[in-house]
Amino acid sequence: MKKSQANILYWLATMAAFTSCGSKDKSQGPYNIVYIMTDDHTAQMMSCYDKRYVSTPNLDRIARDGVRFTNSFVANSLSGPSRACMLTGKHSSENRFFDNSTCVFDAAQQTFPKLLQKAGYQTAVVGKWHLGSLPTGFDYWEVIPGQGDYYNPSFITMQQDTIVERGYLTNIITDKSLEWIDKRDKQRPFCILIHHKAVHRNWLPELKYLNEYEDTTFPMPDTFYDDYEGRVAAAEQEMHILEDMDIIYDTKMLKDDVETHYKGAYLSFIGRLTPEERAQYDEAYAPIIKEFYEKQPQGKELAEWKYQRYMRDYAKVVKSLDDNVGRVLDYLKEQGLDKNTLVVYTSDQGFYMGEHGWFDKRFMYEESMRTPLVMDLPEGFDRKGDIVEMVQNIDYAPTFLELAGVDVPDDMHGESLVPLLKGESPKDWRSSLYYHFYEYPAEHMVKRHYGVRTDRYKLIHFYNDIDEWELYDLQNDPQELNNLYGKEGYDEITKELRAELNRLQEQYKDPTRFSPANDRDAAR
Ligand code: CA
Repeated sequence: MKKSQANILYWLATMAAFTSCGSKDKSQGPYNIVYIMTDDHTAQMMSCYDKRYVSTPNLDRIARDGVRFTNSFVANSLSGPSRACMLTGKHSSENRFFDNSTCVFDAAQQTFPKLLQKAGYQTAVVGKWHLGSLPTGFDYWEVIPGQGDYYNPSFITMQQDTIVERGYLTNIITDKSLEWIDKRDKQRPFCILIHHKAVHRNWLPELKYLNEYEDTTFPMPDTFYDDYEGRVAAAEQEMHILEDMDIIYDTKMLKDDVETHYKGAYLSFIGRLTPEERAQYDEAYAPIIKEFYEKQPQGKELAEWKYQRYMRDYAKVVKSLDDNVGRVLDYLKEQGLDKNTLVVYTSDQGFYMGEHGWFDKRFMYEESMRTPLVMDLPEGFDRKGDIVEMVQNIDYAPTFLELAGVDVPDDMHGESLVPLLKGESPKDWRSSLYYHFYEYPAEHMVKRHYGVRTDRYKLIHFYNDIDEWELYDLQNDPQELNNLYGKEGYDEITKELRAELNRLQEQYKDPTRFSPANDRDAAR
């Protein structure tokens, strides 16, 4: 049920009355929203989802005290597009931010922060923005330019100045966010988006964690040596740990007489460190570099060496992130804000931790279509534990609006998660998800594709310069190694999934369905 805007005015009046007579607000709402989103942080590297690799005690606190979504997905597994889906509650086809390389977000369009602001909320965003245009709909914003820097990072302020801060980005984003919450007008509810760059490539650790995980040998994922049989697009990507991971930029094996494609970028990143910091950084990597160039591993040995380097650096960056999520949770508790605040933790998509031999994201396969999602709920929402319904990042906008008592506009594609947070299991909850990835040709060379995922099956169409379909039975083949498309016995399910795909493309007004390649295929 949608609440009318009148509710928020009532809440505001109630809250003001409580505050003025000094008693604590026990009413349901107005609810504050603290939305923490990281970049490329995958559920495999979060111990409340997966205990194989790292421990994330603070992230786990959110899941333990609140809810964990076990079927959480994105609509387009890439930074900017994911952010646009989240802000608008719409698929890329309607928010028009299709890819990072050619698009600028139309900042004039409807977003949930604008609607919350109109309803009396104080709104803020701090950290990664990555949408080409400047933030709109926020009382306060301070964002990093583009991908930003981990070390001594620059920020763009609301005055459109660029300032440089000292320290590690994950800590600074948290500092700025808590400062804003502290200084807000305490008479009105707030919504802050804390957007980390962490855990994005090239995984530069906080200096105090440079030596963490160095004694850990991570287990290899089952599909590390995937041969991509029956999967053309999977065979042609450029996100392979052995073949595409840059030995300097990604694995930090800096050497004067070794040149790589991204060496210059790497030097500029670590060039931001002060001489003292740089000395500390170099000291940590020096013995690893020495051993690497002495041994010069090749083939399988090199692939596994790169995998371990990747896992260790990624895990170090997660550690700082987990610390900082803990700081936010502690702060909210100290301030008594935990009672009436929804805390959301998610990422802009999942990521490959060596599955299929890969790093990066983009594909509609499980590891990158999924994204972690845990929430600590305000009082009045008793739901605990796992929520199994399929949810997508287009659902966040309607959820926050309903929670704030604001009408959800009809043109939003997402569904409010509020009924699920109340412990309801709506019978008519969605039974399929739509996905579309557009960025090709571009970095990592993942072909354009769209598809539909149900509880059990996934149908994907790779198009543009190829015309390949893939079908997976997720129940029997959760690692998506066996492409069943065109195989005997799968005609009926393929037909059903194609009909569902067409229905979703019509619903979301996605014109790709009408491209010549698809018409040709549909006519077969
Ligand atoms: Ca990302």
